Amino acid sequence: MSIARNLILRTSGLTPVKFLVRRSFFFKPLVKRFIAGDTLEEAIAASEAILARGLKVSLDYLGENTASEQEALDAKKTYIDMLERISKVPAVAKWNAEHGNSPTINLSGDGIEPLNISIKLTQCGLDQGVEFAEKNYREVLETAKRLHNFVRVDMEASEYTERTMEMIDRVRGDYSNTSTVLQTYLYRTPGDVEKIVEWKIRVRLVKGAYLEPASVAFPEKSKVDSAYIELGKRLLDAGTYPAFASQDEAIIKELKAYATEKKIDKSRFEFQMLYGIRRDLQESLAAEGYNVRVYVPFGDAWYPYFTRRLAERPANTLFILKSLFKG
Ligand SMILES: Cc1cc2nc3c(=O)[nH]c(=O)nc-3n(C[C@H](O)[C@H](O)[C@H](O)COP(=O)(O)OP(=O)(O)OC[C@H]3O[C@@H](n4cnc5c(N)ncnc54)[C@H](O)[C@@H]3O)c2cc1C
Repeated sequence: MSIARNLILRTSGLTPVKFLVRRSFFFKPLVKRFIAGDTLEEAIAASEAILARGLKVSLDYLGENTASEQEALDAKKTYIDMLERISKVPAVAKWNAEHGNSPTINLSGDGIEPLNISIKLTQCGLDQGVEFAEKNYREVLETAKRLHNFVRVDMEASEYTERTMEMIDRVRGDYSNTSTVLQTYLYRTPGDVEKIVEWKIRVRLVKGAYLEPASVAFPEKSKVDSAYIELGKRLLDAGTYPAFASQDEAIIKELKAYATEKKIDKSRFEFQMLYGIRRDLQESLAAEGYNVRVYVPFGDAWYPYFTRRLAERPANTLFILKSLFKG
């Protein structure tokens, strides 16, 4: 991976850097570009605008690694509030009525919910204990089930991968309205893809956003990219409504061509992109008839998410640093 990416991910935890990025006037427009707002209502407004463009949404309440049980309980309450509030969005209520409030997890691609949520297990209290986090996660799933919605568990740094897969395995018998994310930079991922295929559940495929050692992840971008294509094809063949979350046009093109060649209908998978990135590509894919979902983050704990976005595109940071030091 690039030197600039590693440098940004390594230095973003340093106190003076945090201070500079959080307080600096220069970073504000970029923060605004990637984050839908501080409040749920701002995120709902942004989501409604995206739905009106014919796209789908996954809403993300920013925050990770809760420091206490109380913080995790507060996050769980926010997740539940999000699901309740989503059910009142007119486009969602209409969709629910049209689909007879069907169970959401239809792997044929019919009845895929327009607006779901993405959560993090470390925000459910995984650092405070697996059982504690599982209890919180199950409460969120119960609400989602009642409201015919779906909960995606984001994949965090590699120290959490095994615990996340185990958690999904434990709840999947009780809840078909949940799944997780797999990162193609990890050497272990082909094995995890086979588990997901065996479990017949939806999965989001990403390259991976964390700083990982060469002992667990490919250091070379080319290997991460080719693993993405290989695993993406495997998931298309398996037919468990995969989500290809990437802004990489070459990868998107290759997976589209594969689906066409194998006569896999456009309704049987979706593309996902991040809020504020490649809006043109989101819209052109939707115009071609693909399902496209935009990941919409909100909340005031935006710093770690934001620095991961800077690391993916060091040019963003260089542009800001240049303006900081100009005159
Ligand atoms: C919907 C969604 C959910 C995700 N969930 C997770 C998760 O749970 N766990 C996880 O580890 N990672 C997650 N990621 C992040 C992912 O792992 C990558 O870090 C991120 O998507 C960038 O990789 P890329 O596939 O777009 O390819 P890249 O090769 O990084 O980028 C391809 C092109 O996309 C554009 N681009 C990419 N990033 C940016 C940016 N920040 N600013 C401007 N342009 C950009 C550029 O044009 C770039 O050339 C998610 C990504 C998406 C889209």
